[in-house]
Amino acid sequence: MLRLPVFFVSLLLAVALGLPASSVAGAVPGAPLHVLATTTLLASLAADVGRGRAEVTSLMPVGASPETYQPAPADMVRVQQAGLIVQNGAGLEAWLAPMLGSAAAHAPIVNCSDGLQIVAANPHLWLDPEYARHYVVAMRDGMIAADPAGAATYRANAAALDARLAGLTARIRRQLATIPPANRNMIVFHNAWLYYNARFGLRTLGAIEEVPGSEPSAEHIAQLVDLARAAHVRAIFAEPEYNANLVTAVARSAGIPHVALLYDDSVGTSPQTRDYISMLETDTATIVRGLK
Ligand SMILES: [Zn+2]
Repeated sequence: MLRLPVFFVSLLLAVALGLPASSVAGAVPGAPLHVLATTTLLASLAADVGRGRAEVTSLMPVGASPETYQPAPADMVRVQQAGLIVQNGAGLEAWLAPMLGSAAAHAPIVNCSDGLQIVAANPHLWLDPEYARHYVVAMRDGMIAADPAGAATYRANAAALDARLAGLTARIRRQLATIPPANRNMIVFHNAWLYYNARFGLRTLGAIEEVPGSEPSAEHIAQLVDLARAAHVRAIFAEPEYNANLVTAVARSAGIPHVALLYDDSVGTSPQTRDYISMLETDTATIVRGLK
């Protein structure tokens, strides 16, 4: 759980009482480590690593798009009060840098994508569950460094989560193997599935959105329609937060029979995607249904 409401209540109380930032920060002896993750997905993994020990919240609300996020003034306060910040890196949180540069922000930062091969400046490494295992190690080490007394808890939690993620990889591999090889082509709304597809032998033929947050050109759409027709693409995958009319129009022009929803930048937008693992299980089932 993200425990956002509890955090907000304590934050509002602190603001209402005019308390200095340090009075609610994680540095209070005996208080739990406050881990602030930038996205709900990172918070989902971090909550499992910190379970029973750390308080984990997400800076971005459920359903927000990390590529186009506009921080609220209250976000600055949360960054300053965090005991540990967990970010994806790989260019995802460009909006975070000015807040981290403030003199009042002093929490150590876990940059989860450090050490992984970033392809085409694409930040969506978390959608490969093997990369998520790397994220978990980075989170575990960050939490141990920020709260050494909790080392045994963080190690045990991370080991348990690592085993669940390894199991997830194996299940996804088995399910995707049921898709005939000639059908393993996706058209997506936004280009999130690069690393997942590389891991599991699928291909993203193209993305409707060229630049996150901006309308694609007519020429780009025409090229995509041609590509989809030539490859007999069976499904377009889009996210619930994006432009459904545009997706339906492209599917109709290209003769693509299925339009299906995938969840990739946020957990918690539907009951089936309450955390990282359930989100990828839901998405994998959707991909298999769409392409089979
Ligand atoms: Zn994205």
